[in-house]
Amino acid sequence: MRDVTLVRPAVFPAVCIACGQPSARSWKLKVKEGFNAILVRHERWLFLPVPLCKRCESRRFFGAFITPSAVLLGCVAGALATAARVADMISPSTQLFAIFAVLAWILVFINFGTRQVDYRILGVCGVAFSDDSVTLRFRGEPPAPILKMPRV
Ligand SMILES: [Zn+2]
Repeated sequence: MRDVTLVRPAVFPAVCIACGQPSARSWKLKVKEGFNAILVRHERWLFLPVPLCKRCESRRFFGAFITPSAVLLGCVAGALATAARVADMISPSTQLFAIFAVLAWILVFINFGTRQVDYRILGVCGVAFSDDSVTLRFRGEPPAPILKMPRV
């Protein structure tokens, strides 16, 4: 694991930030700043344009949706099986509520699980940022051209 703090505005070389392959494709990496303590909440988001190759982009896309979806399908199947058994006890409105709850959970996952998904799938995620710097965390060694960028 290695944190790299870059000077903003960070202009990335045309190599995939995840695997180092040449890539001119741009992708927005979400970086969160602040805290969320339920009652007191202060958050700022930075959408940092980074190069990502086609292969890593699709890995990221499918990983972000398929992983939680697979887990959810299991939960839904279990819930439906239970519901079928106690069919008389669950009203259609309760069932509808359950469906909405599941959808809400997906939204929460997509919004707040971004960093974990980035780090696990791409091997890189945004850690923090300020007005003149941004910190990225790499699971392994960052691609060499990225280490040549101006750093704090
Ligand atoms: Zn790549």
